[in-house]
This record gives sequence, C-alpha cells and structure tokens, in this order.
Amino acid sequence: MKTRFNRLFCSAALAALAGTAVAAEPKAMLGFSATSTQVERDLEGRFDAGLSAAAIRERLRLMAAEPNQVGSPHDKANAEFTLAQFRAWGWDAHIEVFNVLYPTPRAEGLELLGPHPFKATLTEPAIPGDDSSAHQSGGLPAYVAYGGDGDVTAPLIYVNYGMPADYDALQRLGLDVKGKIVIARYGAGWRGLKPKLAQEHGAVGCIIYSDPADDGYGAGDAYPAGAYRPETGLQRGSVQDLPVEPGDPLTPGYGAVEGAPRIPLAEAKTILKIPVLPVSWGEARPFLAALGGPVAPRGWRGALPITYHVGGSGVSAHMLVLSNWDQKPLYDVIAVMKGAREPDKWVVRGNHRDGWVFGAEDPLSGQIALMEEARSIGALARTGWRPARTLVYASWDGEEPGLLGSTEWAETHARELQNKAVVYINTDGNNRGVLSAETSYSLRRLFDEATSTVTDPETGVSVRDRALAAMQVRGLASDATPEQKTWAKIARDGGDLPVGDLGSGSDYTPFVQHLGIASINFGFAGEGQSGGVYHSAYDTFEHFERFSDPGFAYSVVLAKTAGRLVLRAANADLAPFQFADLASSVAAQTEELKKLVATGREHAVTQDRLLDQKAFALADDPTLSSGPPERESIAPTLDFAALDGAVTRLTASAHAYDQAAATAPTADRGAAADALLQGLEQTLTDPEGLPGRPWYRHLIYAPGLLTGYGAKTLPGVREAIEGRRWSEASAFIARTAAVLEAASARLDQATGVLTK
Ligand SMILES: [Zn+2]
Repeated sequence: MKTRFNRLFCSAALAALAGTAVAAEPKAMLGFSATSTQVERDLEGRFDAGLSAAAIRERLRLMAAEPNQVGSPHDKANAEFTLAQFRAWGWDAHIEVFNVLYPTPRAEGLELLGPHPFKATLTEPAIPGDDSSAHQSGGLPAYVAYGGDGDVTAPLIYVNYGMPADYDALQRLGLDVKGKIVIARYGAGWRGLKPKLAQEHGAVGCIIYSDPADDGYGAGDAYPAGAYRPETGLQRGSVQDLPVEPGDPLTPGYGAVEGAPRIPLAEAKTILKIPVLPVSWGEARPFLAALGGPVAPRGWRGALPITYHVGGSGVSAHMLVLSNWDQKPLYDVIAVMKGAREPDKWVVRGNHRDGWVFGAEDPLSGQIALMEEARSIGALARTGWRPARTLVYASWDGEEPGLLGSTEWAETHARELQNKAVVYINTDGNNRGVLSAETSYSLRRLFDEATSTVTDPETGVSVRDRALAAMQVRGLASDATPEQKTWAKIARDGGDLPVGDLGSGSDYTPFVQHLGIASINFGFAGEGQSGGVYHSAYDTFEHFERFSDPGFAYSVVLAKTAGRLVLRAANADLAPFQFADLASSVAAQTEELKKLVATGREHAVTQDRLLDQKAFALADDPTLSSGPPERESIAPTLDFAALDGAVTRLTASAHAYDQAAATAPTADRGAAADALLQGLEQTLTDPEGLPGRPWYRHLIYAPGLLTGYGAKTLPGVREAIEGRRWSEASAFIARTAAVLEAASARLDQATGVLTK
C-alpha cells in the first residue's frame, strides 16, 4: 500500500511539474481531422489492450535460448518461428534469403611473449546462476567481423581509446605505432575506428579490451552480483568500414541475391587488412602490466590496479586470426498487411533479430516488442479493420556484422521503396528508462505527438513529458554540453521533443542515408543496466530480466510507442509530415558552419604565432622527445550566399506548407499530396553522394567519417571544413543549396495541391 501511495503521489507531482494531464483532450493530430483523430485514438486504445508483457517475456525466453549469430542454426530457427507467428497473426509473410560474405574465426590466438608469458583463452566461461551462459555451444569465441587475417609478432603499445586525439598525444610523446601491435580500450568512439586508425598509422595488429573503468567494476558491481562487465566479459562487434558503406562487402550498392555478381575479396573496400581481437580485462591485464616505456598520460589510465605504461619497445605479443571467408545465408522475415485506401504507400517498421551470442537485450528486446505490435495489429485486422496505407514489418538478419539484412533488402528493392515507402521506423535494443530518438526533421512533430499519449510506467506521466523533464535536469548540470543546454531550453519553451540527428549504427541507415526515406530510430534507456554485457555471451535472458527491464514494462511501452507511429503514419488523411523543424534545423546548422570556419581560422593563426615564437619547444618536457604540431592551412573566406538563399526560401515554403496542411486535411486531397510528400526526403539526397563514399547520398545528415555512428549535419560542407579542403567546401555549399531548393520546390507543389 505504501509503495502504491508513493507511486501515485510521485505521478501526480510529476504531472503537475510537467504541466500537462496524462490523457489530453483530443485535438486534431498531425495529418488527421478532428473526427478522424477520435477514430484513431479509439484504435490505439484497442491496440494497447492487445499487448501482453507475459507474451513478450515468453518470446524472449524462446528466441534467446541459444546463440543466434548469422549462420547459426538458432538464427534460422528464430526466422522460421517469426515467420510462423506473423502468418498465425494474419499477415502475408515470407522469408527473403541473401548470401553474404561473413567471416567467422577458424583459428585464433593471443599471447604475451617475454619473461612472464601469458596465453589468452578468448572465451567467456559460464557465470554462476546464469544458465544460458553455460550453453554456448554453437556460439563463437572472441572475434570481430571484417578484421583481416594475420599471424604477427611485434612490440606492444598502448594507445588509450585509439581515437585521433590519442595519436596526436602519442606523437607528442615521441612514439609511433609503426610495425607494432596496438592495445586500445573500448569507448570514446566507434569500435571500427580503432583498428582503422591503427592500420592507417602503420600498426600490424589491434587488440581491443574492456577497461573496468568504463563498464566493469569501476562503473558498478560486476555480474552476477550486479549488472556490470565481469573479469571474463568481452565485447564482440563489427569493424567493417561502415562510414564508407554498410552491407555485404562483395555486392556494393546492389542486393546480394542469387546470381548477382560478386567483386573479388581483394577489391572489397570495407574490410580491414590487420588482425583484430577483443579481450576481457582479465585477459588484457597481463599485457598491460608488462608494458614499459613512459607512464601513460593521466587521461589514459583505467581502473586496473596497475600503473599504466605506454610501452612501444621491449614487450612483444603474438596475434593469430584466420577466418572462414565464405558466404553465409541471411534470413530477413518480411510481413505485409495491405492498405485499404493507399496500398502503394508503405509504412515500413523494422528491428534486427541476429545477436552476437544470445542477444537478449541487443537486439531481441526490440524484436519481441515489434512482434507484439504485429500480434495486436493482427487481432485488429481480424475484426475487419484495415490500415489505410500498407504496413511492412521486417525482422532483419545480419545487422550486427554490418547492417547486412536491411541493406541488402533495401538495395534489392530500392526502386520500389523509393516509389512507395513513406516512412521507416526502427528500434534496436531496449531498456527500462527514458525515451530518446533520432529522426528525420519532417517526422519530429509526429514523434512529439505520438509520444505524448504513451504513459511511462514508473512515473505516470507521458514518456514525452518524462523525457522533457530529464532534458531540463541534464541541462542544469555543471558539466552539461552545449547540445544538452540547447535541448533543455527547447524542453522548457515547449517546442517539439528534442531528438538527435540520424547517423548510423542500426538498420535505418540504408533507408534514410542511401534511399532518402524519412526515418525514426528510438528506444528507452538509462536505467536498465545492459552496457556491461553489451555484445557479450552474458547478454542473456537471465541478465535481461534481472537488470534491463524487470517485468517487461518497457517492452510494452516500446510496442505502444512504435505502434502509434506505425498506425498514425498508415492511417492519417494526409501523410503526417511537418517541415518547420527542417527549415529551422538547417538554418541553425548553416550558422554553426560559419562559426566553425571562424574558430578554425583563429586556431590556425594562433598556433602559427606560437610556432614562430617556438612556444611548444619552451613549454614541453625536454626529456621526452616530443615535437611541435604541424601548421594548419588558414581558412579563406567561404561564400555561404547560396546556402543562405536556399535556407530563406525553405523557411518560407515550409511554413506555407505546414499552414496548408493544418487546415482540416481530407483523405482525397491527402492522397494527391501524398504523391509529392512520399518522395520529399529524397530531394535532400544527391545521386553522387559524399566524397569517397557515394553510397551515402543524404546531404543533410550522415555518419561522420571519423565518428562512425555519430551524425554530422550538412556533412558535405562540414567535413570539408574540418578537413580544411576549401574548394570541396565551396562545391558542397552549392550542392547542399541545390537539394534545399529542390525540397522547397516540391513543398510548394504540395502546398498548391492542398490549397487548390
Ligand atoms: Zn543491435
């Protein structure tokens, strides 16, 4: 009783704080009239009633029972189970098979040589009390996908996180990695960049370990006492050169279907040359403890009870990685429910199904929610209801090694998707906690509205209001980033729920970045503790139920949120886009780029002055053979006029459209406008793509070449400025302005249809 009272009291207090009632009075939703809004709300009530936490739990128990990585028997069994379920729920479902290059370890070894030799086991032994972890047969040992083959013996050197700034620091210590094996810790940037940068700097091998400071006992109690990474836990993962292009490396840009040509392995652009192995901190410790050389810089030290040294001479290691470079089958399960009014407009919803080992949290916690949505929608269909637009539900295979299942499917059906897909809605792993998302700008209002009608199970306010409260609290902290402060301000001032920009790292990538289909990626996180078993054999049903989402309440919330997004996108009288957020975002980014040029110029000028004064030589410790930094090229005056003009026009066009769309949409006018809106995000792409990576065509957002997953906005211009390639920056100012002009023209046409 007391708990219940406290809970209620808490909810009321939070609701008052957020200033909104949980069940808002129905007003017209984006794309709906007042009448059709009421119909949709009733439908959502019936959809919610069809969701069951118990059914979700049972599904996770079955699907996470055995290792289910690409090519494993249980991956195929899960695909067949998913197919049978979709069919039983009334969907028109099939499995699409692709054959992709997927290397798996054939032989591997990691040894420390010298006076205190040590041989790593590269395995994750069972954890007491976790039955799943004792049943790893069919799983694979420590490995990463798409590293090179190699048998190397070389001096070992510690490079901290192995990010660009770490190489600058190493250079200033007078050390380099040429001909050496680097050992880097996980964190601070995408995994694949660590071996890529090591290779570019001349290293011959790369070991990546999980330091207990980051996700082990330095962060919380280790498994099984707590949720965090134990001494034996290691992180598998992909090191494919994802920012160049995802998908099967042998079929770049087209589907890996039967009979499609394969390029020779040696020509594949996204496979590394050097061998890479992940290890636990327990097995990394002897290597790190043996290193000599200078003491590691302060920021490089982790939580092991040793003095961290950089090494670089004296201590050597031996690495062996040999893989089976054969093709393995992918099983994408695709389920369709045809739309009654606009069957050729598709709402696509996906989550991946393959894990690294058991994959309970990543990805099955999202997959089981997606299936629950499909079950509830199937039950609605049995009552005679039909969506207005067609629903396409996808259970992707092969996401972990390189977004393989979604990319091959998107490439195979590229033309049809570009003609029909209105929106793509993605989820991946899910936890107890607070809502966060990345979306196309045109979908922010839809996301804001839909999430305001889903109740958070812990607080009783909407998941949106809880996220807004969390953003304001975060923005108040003394270490808040500029972005967190901006979000806090938007949250306070009542704008649409702030969300991030789309980069990469999950299955929305081919849809938005390659095909130009407006996308949403979202989930709940922050309280469930899954980080310490991320990509480990300990990401099990047992761990998930204890630490990630006890009671599966947030799996249900994920299904409720995704279900609303899917159903509203499918049923709205007019496709639910809003463009003011696009115009204001691009306007703000343009100003940011101008500042970036100015601050870069100031930095280069100041550094030149310090070099002229020999200031670096005076400031440095003369016993360490460091050298001064290299001179930077000073930015010329870049002409932003074309971009400024395009932003002004877009702002006017977006506001005109939003106003026209707000005046009581009807289904017949909506259908006429849909034809223009469906392809609108595609106007923001350029068929020639980004420099050196033409697969990435979106000119408003892309994963950064040096961030891996993280987004760069106006990437053509921004990365050219960051790389001090001034003529490329000018060229991309013109190309980015051109896509914005095209978007404005398309918006004006849609406004014309609505106001005629
Ligand atoms: Zn995942």
